[in-house]
Amino acid sequence: MAEQLVESAAPGGAHQTDVIIIGAGPVGLFAVFELGLLGVKAHVVDILDKPGGQCAELYPEKPILDIPAIKSISGADLTRQLIEQIEPFGAEFHLNEMAISLDKTGNGKWRVQTDMETVIEAPAICIAAGGGSFQPKKPPIPGVDDYQGQSVFYAVRKRDMFKGKNIIIAGGGDSALDWTLNLQPIAKKITLIHRRPDFRGAPDSVEKMQALVSAGKIDLHIAQIKGLKGADGQITAVSVEHKEDGEYDLPCENLLAFFGLTMKLGPIADFGLNLTENRIAVDTEKFETSEPGIFCIGDMAFYPGKLKLILSGFHESALMSHGAFHYVFPDKKLKFQHTTSAKGLQAQVVGE
Ligand SMILES: Cc1cc2nc3c(=O)[nH]c(=O)nc-3n(C[C@H](O)[C@H](O)[C@H](O)COP(=O)(O)OP(=O)(O)OC[C@H]3O[C@@H](n4cnc5c(N)ncnc54)[C@H](O)[C@@H]3O)c2cc1C
Repeated sequence: MAEQLVESAAPGGAHQTDVIIIGAGPVGLFAVFELGLLGVKAHVVDILDKPGGQCAELYPEKPILDIPAIKSISGADLTRQLIEQIEPFGAEFHLNEMAISLDKTGNGKWRVQTDMETVIEAPAICIAAGGGSFQPKKPPIPGVDDYQGQSVFYAVRKRDMFKGKNIIIAGGGDSALDWTLNLQPIAKKITLIHRRPDFRGAPDSVEKMQALVSAGKIDLHIAQIKGLKGADGQITAVSVEHKEDGEYDLPCENLLAFFGLTMKLGPIADFGLNLTENRIAVDTEKFETSEPGIFCIGDMAFYPGKLKLILSGFHESALMSHGAFHYVFPDKKLKFQHTTSAKGLQAQVVGE
């Protein structure tokens, strides 16, 4: 990564910003705010289809008790409030995209590329990648490798791909329910398969799904997937086993299997940064890595005494922002001011 120089993108080919934040977890979100206070703009990349990282994905309804001055807040509400707090700073989000490479451009900037071919350039990078990127767990279905990426998918990257298709969705959590509800209006047919009658997803989504079943708009099968039928990467049916009805085939063109997510360090391991215990070593003054202009905060950062807590990541965001400022505005002096006395910021943030 670091030593390798790549050519600058053709004019208009790459997004230009001040800081690229990799990871839209709570810490990446708060980094938008701290950078915004200093007049620094950001683009944020996350493989998930929504911001919030672990808070949104792993414990949206659990109470967090150690956010200063907030007695108790759920992971979902903390995420919602962070999004509201950073809204005035207009960060651009690239969701559903994994940052796959980090290189230096010919003009001294850093360039991030995603697996959706988005290219972003900036003088500074903030890695807020937590425990790594959330990646879908592969379902334990015999022969699934022959179809994955062609007609079997574990995430929806482009909704329109499924327009007019006969789709089977497998799973009982929020992703399976959300995509059932989301694709139903555009798909030719949706069949939801879950091995149990109980669904783990949000009660509201379960209710909406059941209403669609009652209205005959989607089919629901409480059954176990046993195998796939098809050829040359194109699935034609899913074989399922039902407790009473035995084995039968459900014809389809696509299978969307949502069997949970796992966190993997992923491409960040190849960014060429010093790693310690699969995390990125930083100083504790600016949270800068071994590479000038690349910062790391939150759970992904490693330094003596590091606590994997949201409040630690918030503190790291503030110091990172002061460090990144100097790469973005090398000729400007950073004037520290409290938000209580920053009239311009007050107008921008609270409209007063
Ligand atoms: C069950 C549970 C309960 C917890 N309770 C508390 C608590 O009560 N209090 C507390 O302070 N902490 C708690 N934590 C810890 C807290 O959730 C983490 O400290 C916090 O989420 C770290 O935030 P982060 O933004 O650094 O990382 P994350 O929340 O992990 O977010 C990182 C984001 O980066 C994305 N990402 C990673 N790599 C890439 C890539 N290459 N491209 C694109 N995107 C990428 C990931 O998809 C993810 O969305 C809890 C954790 C768990 C699992």
